[in-house]
Amino acid sequence: MNAIILSIGDELITGQTVDTNSAYLSRRLAERGVATAEHVTVPDSPEAITAALSRAAGRADVVLVTGGLGPTEDDVTREALARAMGAELVLNQRNLEQIEKLFLARRWPMHESNRRQAMLPAGAEALENPVGTAPGIAARLGLARVFVMPGVPSEMEVMFRDQVEPRLPHLEGAILHRVLHTFGEGESTAASRIADLMKRGANPLVGTTVAAGLVSVRVVSRGRTPQDAQRLAADTVATLRQRLGDLVVGEGDESMASAVGDLLRARRQTLAVAESCTGGMLGQMITVVPGASDYFLGGLVTYANGAKTKFLDVPGEMLKEHGAVSEPVARTMAERCRERFGSDWALSVTGIAGPGGGTEEKPVGLVHMGLAGPGGVEATHRIFGGTRPIVRLRASLAAMNNLRLALLRK
Ligand code: ATP
Ligand code: MG
Repeated sequence: MNAIILSIGDELITGQTVDTNSAYLSRRLAERGVATAEHVTVPDSPEAITAALSRAAGRADVVLVTGGLGPTEDDVTREALARAMGAELVLNQRNLEQIEKLFLARRWPMHESNRRQAMLPAGAEALENPVGTAPGIAARLGLARVFVMPGVPSEMEVMFRDQVEPRLPHLEGAILHRVLHTFGEGESTAASRIADLMKRGANPLVGTTVAAGLVSVRVVSRGRTPQDAQRLAADTVATLRQRLGDLVVGEGDESMASAVGDLLRARRQTLAVAESCTGGMLGQMITVVPGASDYFLGGLVTYANGAKTKFLDVPGEMLKEHGAVSEPVARTMAERCRERFGSDWALSVTGIAGPGGGTEEKPVGLVHMGLAGPGGVEATHRIFGGTRPIVRLRASLAAMNNLRLALLRK
């Protein structure tokens, strides 16, 4: 069994809205073992929608449609489906009563256009919408089952869960997704460690992607039952963890910052940061994690040389002799930061994020990072590729990774 997901809206085509509905639906279908064959996006045009519906119904068992159910002129999905089915639009009395009830309850004036939302192609079934006005539609088009849901993601999700999922044909088999996040090696180097597991068509299927500065390894397993799929995935994930060692930062929703946070919390230790080129990004990433107050004491953003001297006692002569982007400065920033905050650990970052400011000796992307801890202070430096935002992101991640590795060694 396979599915095509059809999203409808001018705002999607023009790029003003990102199509998150299709991603959500694909993920939910995959959990049930249904493969998505295509994502199709069309504008609010009756002809385009009718054509896309007919084509999808000829190729897939299930067609999930979102958008264009509203009361306005540009919401034409209902009409387009009726045309594709060769059916009349008829007023559904129950739909109308429900819409009237909603408007009465909210004391909204009801417009004639809202009556349109109660119309259904003859032979189709209405899907209740407890959170919005537009009811959904379940219909048959050729051999395919078609489900039309609202475009608003929160309404769509409730309708999919409560109305569409129970109506989906019963399935054999399950698909399970797991993902490991790594840091420290580029995608191709990391992939070369696990190349034998990355065969096309294998089960589980293993692949790598790069997102938000991390190289992630996806595992997709298929089994007769959810338990089978889980077992298969667990074996592969164990092998991957063994091969990738301490490159593995975490799994699923875990991030670099949450991994560092968990390690600190387990050791009842605290952290402070001193940032230059990352301008607060490191502190931001650390505090995005709920419960960061358990271990994070605070940060100083010392961007100007004067601020480094004033708040972190970086000597003026050191700055003059070595420059702000240098190992001695990174070391001093970390050491003083640890003292000032009275934390167990302190991280510092000073670098050239670009696009300007690079020299032959100190190119754009050069970042010095300090790590002060119970055993003293260490410094590392890297030359990161990429644009300014990417250099800043990578520097923040690399600084946290230094601490993660130090904590793992303890
Ligand atoms: P309404 O009754 O609100 O008009 P509708 O079913 O007509 O609902 P649309 O008008 O197509 O839905 O979309 C309403 C809003 O939902 C859009 O402005 C957009 O912000 C959001 N939306 C629509 N489709 C998607 C999508 N595929 N992914 C994410 N958001 C979407
Ligand atoms: Mg609309």
